[in-house]
Amino acid sequence: MTEEKKKKYPVIDAKTCAGCSVCVENCPINCLAIEAPKYHGDITTIVYLANPEACLGCGICAKICPIRAITIVEA
Ligand code: SF4
Ligand code: SF4
Repeated sequence: MTEEKKKKYPVIDAKTCAGCSVCVENCPINCLAIEAPKYHGDITTIVYLANPEACLGCGICAKICPIRAITIVEA
């Protein structure tokens, strides 16, 4: 039996994110990505977790976001 370990990962608030790319540039393992805005109803996606498997859950992206659009959650 393997011990289940909770993984932390960032959730980006698409409504708040200004698309400045500071988080993308400061992720130590480049697992965030920025794209041209995609519109899903009233939600616009700009930054997304491109490589969730690689994400360390370190929280650097959440700390560095100037408008606190990123929250670290546990899955
Ligand atoms: S939690 Fe760390 S590893 Fe994961 S996206 Fe943010 S900066 Fe990158
Ligand atoms: S640092 Fe914050 S505002 Fe800038 S792109 Fe990342 S989530 Fe969006």
